[in-house]
Amino acid sequence: MQKRELYVVESDHLVRSRRFCPRCGPGVFLAEHENRFTCGRCHYSETKKVTEKKPESQPSTPKGKPKANKEK
Ligand SMILES: [Zn+2]
Repeated sequence: MQKRELYVVESDHLVRSRRFCPRCGPGVFLAEHENRFTCGRCHYSETKKVTEKKPESQPSTPKGKPKANKEK
């Protein structure tokens, strides 16, 4: 059951990650670069939305084992 859900989400994400060129219209994909999309047809470029990246200096410890800390 869960595997099926995961598969759907993944495929959906992959499909949505492809973007069409707003100038050329649907059918013309934007080439994906590190931080932007570009259209090889009309040279349209679009900057990617930067997702918030929090510096993970502290390793998040799962709160499932409360007794782990007491063993010191
Ligand atoms: Zn274009």
